[in-house]
Amino acid sequence: MFLSVKQLEIRKISFDESFEPGALELAGSGLRQITPLTAQGVARLLPHTGGQIRIAGSYQVTVEADCDRCLGPAQFRLDDHFDLFYQPQFAPAEEEIEIDEGAAEIGFYEGEGILLEEVLCEQVLLAMPMQRVCRQGCRGICPSCGANRNETDCGCRPGGEEETRWSALKHFRVAEH
Ligand SMILES: [Zn+2]
Ligand SMILES: [Zn+2]
Repeated sequence: MFLSVKQLEIRKISFDESFEPGALELAGSGLRQITPLTAQGVARLLPHTGGQIRIAGSYQVTVEADCDRCLGPAQFRLDDHFDLFYQPQFAPAEEEIEIDEGAAEIGFYEGEGILLEEVLCEQVLLAMPMQRVCRQGCRGICPSCGANRNETDCGCRPGGEEETRWSALKHFRVAEH
């Protein structure tokens, strides 16, 4: 859905959209969209700001990623609000100075407006936790034999991982002296 400046000059645009998996450009982020993304909100042009657009609303989606520890599927239900400001990429210098430094983050847009899909994509990426794990306490993959320790008890000696780290440290010390 394109939020056009020309239309926003006339009136605000309300949206209540549903984007099927594949509609958002999540490729390259390691995320797979597994439910439709629904988004509701309002976009408006702020008067006397040189074309600043404010987009506020909320969205809901479930995405899937590979677990950082066991590489199995890890699902994340995202349900969040946003209140965003965008200004034209090539604003005249004097208008740039008028940006309120106290305002939250200000994004930029090029050309005739903003694609809502792009805004939502960015929000999804920002909402993702740093560590993508399939569950609290995922036991990960055994460093010795490669088995998924959530599924099987491979029987490798516990502490094997620590030993590996320790020998790496010893190597480091030897190299230093
Ligand atoms: Zn896992
Ligand atoms: Zn093992």
